[in-house]
Amino acid sequence: MRDRTKIVKAPEVSHEGYSSLSTPTYRASTIVFDSADDYANRKSRGPDGYTYGLHGTPTTKTLEGQLSSLEGAERTVILPSGKCGITLIFMTVLLPGDHVLIPDTAYPPVRGFCENFLVPRGIKYTVYDPMIGDGISDLFTPDTKLLWMESPGSTTMEFQDIPGLTKLAKKAGVLTGCDNTWATPLLFKPLSHGVDFSMQALTKYVGGHSDIMLGSVSVSNLEHYNALKDTARFLGIGVSPDECQLAIRGLQTLGVRIKHMGEVAERIARKLSERSDVTTVFHPVLGTCAGSEFWQRDFAGANGVFSFIVPTEDNEQINRSLDVLKIISIGASWGGVRSLMVPMAVKGDRVATEWSQSGTIFRLSVGLEDPADLWDDLERFLDVIGASSVVSKVG
Ligand SMILES: *Cc1c(COP(=O)(O)O)cnc(C)c1O
Repeated sequence: MRDRTKIVKAPEVSHEGYSSLSTPTYRASTIVFDSADDYANRKSRGPDGYTYGLHGTPTTKTLEGQLSSLEGAERTVILPSGKCGITLIFMTVLLPGDHVLIPDTAYPPVRGFCENFLVPRGIKYTVYDPMIGDGISDLFTPDTKLLWMESPGSTTMEFQDIPGLTKLAKKAGVLTGCDNTWATPLLFKPLSHGVDFSMQALTKYVGGHSDIMLGSVSVSNLEHYNALKDTARFLGIGVSPDECQLAIRGLQTLGVRIKHMGEVAERIARKLSERSDVTTVFHPVLGTCAGSEFWQRDFAGANGVFSFIVPTEDNEQINRSLDVLKIISIGASWGGVRSLMVPMAVKGDRVATEWSQSGTIFRLSVGLEDPADLWDDLERFLDVIGASSVVSKVG
């Protein structure tokens, strides 16, 4: 072998005795085959086999396997973002002429996808009240193929009766999917309630460090898995093994992070609810969320994300208050080690329900900072809101 061959062909090294606790990052575009025959028959390897880097490496499969076992799933597909997890399900299940139901409180870009992508392709959607209960049956049409759920709803924290809705959908021959990002499979397992597609944005709690984008869809039916993998293949969707390796690492500490963040968030929620300058705190332990009883019945706990309302709707006042925060950052993608807070637009966003609450709703994601520092920051924030409301009354 000459030098210019040597530099592109790595030598075989022994793996014997190399027993590590970490999952290696396997990168590949090309998969090479032992024989011409092997190559010719590569399709027979099926969706679980290795044929091309885009379709998965052992690192991807490790994450898939770990999520499947947590979700109680037969298989899991990893996607480049949580949003892609949602759109992949919709594009796999829905054909022109079909109809999908989405809750009013879904992660807002879901409705944008329905309106701007599905509708021009002849797929209809209806937005429903997340607390509709048995009334969901009246919304099923002969074209309805998918009932989408998200529990709790983004920002306004409505907990849906997932088992009840799923039972009714099954009776009507409608498939069901659930955005399980808030709970993660540690706090809720949609598949165990009969849901067909359990999706989560790994970007949030599983990644846990605000530095990766990934999503997952777990299913208990192999046909659904094959169909999802087909759609991903047709569209050229795959994920980076580096991101998967970080998700595997994040997963290892998910239990202690969620437990700690959940405890601190609950303490903060209780303290906020005692303040006269906070109108409402939406946290399931306080019983203030719509469907808190479903949380009590179906969930194993709460995490660090909840919302609260302050009386003012004055944007300048809100911005001034946010700008005094020193520990909590202003940002949207929650679930990391750093605490985040943002004001959320809800009122103009509702179509199937009415948001009658006045004031401004903030979503808080509690991170791993010292709880006392977080509380000092929130007091500073509320003091500015309170003080400026006095100033604006006098002025
Ligand atoms: C963030 C989020 C998503 C989207 O996840 P990305 O990875 O940011 O695309 C979907 N659903 C919920 C509930 C989310 O919070």
